[in-house]
Amino acid sequence: MKKEGKKELDSTFDDSMFEEEEEIEKKKPDPIWKTLLITSVVLMVIGGLIWLSGGYQAFLYRKTPPIKEKEFQSILEAEKIVVPLNIIVFQNEGNLGSQRDKANIRQLIDNASRIWAQADITLSIQAIHSIVATDDTISRFFRTPNLLARDIPQFELTVFNLFLVGNLGGINGIAFGGINSLAVADYTTVHDFRVTAHEIGHLLSLSHTEEVRNRLMFRGANGTKLTEGEVIAAYTTALEFFGE
Ligand SMILES: [Zn+2]
Repeated sequence: MKKEGKKELDSTFDDSMFEEEEEIEKKKPDPIWKTLLITSVVLMVIGGLIWLSGGYQAFLYRKTPPIKEKEFQSILEAEKIVVPLNIIVFQNEGNLGSQRDKANIRQLIDNASRIWAQADITLSIQAIHSIVATDDTISRFFRTPNLLARDIPQFELTVFNLFLVGNLGGINGIAFGGINSLAVADYTTVHDFRVTAHEIGHLLSLSHTEEVRNRLMFRGANGTKLTEGEVIAAYTTALEFFGE
């Protein structure tokens, strides 16, 4: 009985219905390789646009999250030297203004100071000044760093001056030895406090090492270690600058 019913149903298919089925056959989804090809071309175009717009920097340069650097043991067990920092924050709503607040700055210095505890050097905030300046003015200061010393009344030659900016045109930080100054960006490829500690290393006479990534004076990494030789050199320089 059932079988007969089906037979009857089958017999109702006519040619027009088969044609329709063929139409549907033609509209089948594209093969997988075609979908993959189109997807990858679209992704490449989007990637290219992000690269051209400079947006890729957002992936490499970022604000350091509120983490705490570990405690370091003193290497020499010498008497502590305090390195006073005169902090000058360039502010504006543009590209180069720093967004840091006082709590963030204290965290920055506290973490950098923890790194320098290896050399019995303590970083201490002497003052925090905010200066509102246009992007043009800020970039002029860093193109001709002597202007930092000459044209900024809050500058002090007898301490280390830490300039804070939004970004430094693709570098994390820079040391200006002749004017006892360093600059650190808000957006960095390694931890901002490591950048600060590294640049202070330059001001305390240390140069780069190409050897091991875990060293403070290795370029562009998060290393924090100082060798005994570096500790002696930096401590001696700090003593000359800031010893009683
Ligand atoms: Zn360096």
